[in-house]
Amino acid sequence: MSADYVIPPPPQPSLAVAGSSKLFPVRRIWCVGRNYIEHIREMGQDERAPPFFFAKPADAVVPDGGTVPYPSLTKDMHHEVELVVALKSGGRSIPVAKANDCIYGYAVGIDLTRRDLQIASRDLKRPWEVGKAFDSSAPCGPIKPASESGHPSKGKITLKVNGKLRQDGDLNQLIWNVPEIIAKLSDMVALAAGDIIMTGTPAGVAATIAGDKIECEVEGIGKLSVTIGPPLK
Ligand code: MN
Repeated sequence: MSADYVIPPPPQPSLAVAGSSKLFPVRRIWCVGRNYIEHIREMGQDERAPPFFFAKPADAVVPDGGTVPYPSLTKDMHHEVELVVALKSGGRSIPVAKANDCIYGYAVGIDLTRRDLQIASRDLKRPWEVGKAFDSSAPCGPIKPASESGHPSKGKITLKVNGKLRQDGDLNQLIWNVPEIIAKLSDMVALAAGDIIMTGTPAGVAATIAGDKIECEVEGIGKLSVTIGPPLK
């Protein structure tokens, strides 16, 4: 029996699954701040502070091959390539040793950031949504099931803009590894199936503009290609 909603329920955001016609339904998008030392240095932040979490709306996902309209209000949108973890189960206060059991698979994604607005919010001690949680701010490639990829603890993570290498890191540079991220985040909220986690970006973040073609890869996990389009009219 279907519920009797007063307006049509919104569509379920989803991501492709590599090698399958099935979809992964996205519940929430969690993001880790400051999880690679060289990126903390380039942003001029405290290298000893623990990472922290913020979120984006689930419908901010953009699929592989998609176009991101250049967002409103900003003059400085940055790319941040990140390993994405997709959960098939969750819970509260998940032990590090049990965290991998919650993982459906992995993908490569981009935490697009209106850097000028993020920094203004930070300096005013306001929330980060204006800088981080805008429409189409979470491009994400197909999810590779962990049953095929295993749980990567190393591997190159790269981002090119118009063929030029901008970000070039390795998953072995993560300050907090994936099981530790899941454990810490599950102390903050009850994680659940469909949650995806963007795990932080290596150094090399920079501005991207309309017309740019962005290509990302995490070795052994997959690729993602998106185009930055003109602003919406
Ligand atoms: Mn990020």
